[in-house]
Amino acid sequence: MQILDGKMVSARIKEELKAEVAALKETGIVPGLAVIIVGDDPASRVYVNSKKKACADLGIYSEEHALPAETTQEELLALVESLNAKDEVSGILVQLPLPKHLDEKAVINAIAPEKDVDAFHPVNVGKIMIGDFDFLPCTPAGIMDLIAESGIDLTGKNCVVVGRSNIVGKPMSMLLLHKNATVTICHSKTQNLAEICKNADVLVVAVGRAEMVTGDMVKEGAVVIDVGMNRLPDKKLVGDVEFASASQKAAYITPVPGGVGPMTIVTLMRNTVTAAKKLSKK
Ligand code: NDP
Repeated sequence: MQILDGKMVSARIKEELKAEVAALKETGIVPGLAVIIVGDDPASRVYVNSKKKACADLGIYSEEHALPAETTQEELLALVESLNAKDEVSGILVQLPLPKHLDEKAVINAIAPEKDVDAFHPVNVGKIMIGDFDFLPCTPAGIMDLIAESGIDLTGKNCVVVGRSNIVGKPMSMLLLHKNATVTICHSKTQNLAEICKNADVLVVAVGRAEMVTGDMVKEGAVVIDVGMNRLPDKKLVGDVEFASASQKAAYITPVPGGVGPMTIVTLMRNTVTAAKKLSKK
């Protein structure tokens, strides 16, 4: 069994991006990321801080807009509009979830698609579906990089994605399909989940339920990607896969933490650089 080490792979990609950002600066292009956070959700705060730190590490300009929980929809949309128009900002990220009174869909729709570095805007989602995209959604794209590390050729392989969220499961399935895999998408209504998982050459689990996929659901020699991040009552962070038993069967497996998480952030940085380059050609 080999660990698919997201920390290591993301560090390598970071070095490449750092060099690219420095070279772009020579030509007068400075990538910039604006992050909007509304309210004081502690998990969101942790994510925003790590995104800001990644920007600083790579020489990417960043600005944070921390708004109070009682911010109105109009105020938030006005901020997005102003960032759409701001030259220093090549990427805009609205940290989700937003407080309940705000309309997430309307906010995402307000982001200029060419600055939508999370690739959540319907225009970018549609482009991913067609296979002609500018940005890849951060978590699925990071996972594709990790799968590439395993050296597996996805053509004709049985890939099973557990979870069908717009952020992970659905776009993940599309990226695997574009690589000619045979893709099965599972969700809470799926019957015989264990049997389906057991047939997977590549198993991607993005559910949000601590250690629900156990070793007996994993095919011998499979590539197992654990997207889940679940905090146990004792504060320990675990994935959606029971690592101890699954790693007995898998040929390659991602750890939690240190697997998918760092890849998500580095892909966000890559998307910000891509956006800056595209905007500079306009
Ligand atoms: P969502 O809650 O949006 O989606 C969860 C999916 O899992 C749904 O499609 C749901 O099905 C499905 N599901 C729930 N219970 C079961 C079950 N018993 N059997 C099969 N499927 C089930 O979650 P996200 O996709 O946003 O995130 C999933 C996990 O990944 C979370 O732990 C999250 O923290 C983590 N995450 C990690 C990231 C990283 O960078 N490492 C980035 C993003 C997420 P249904 O549609 O039928 O309800």
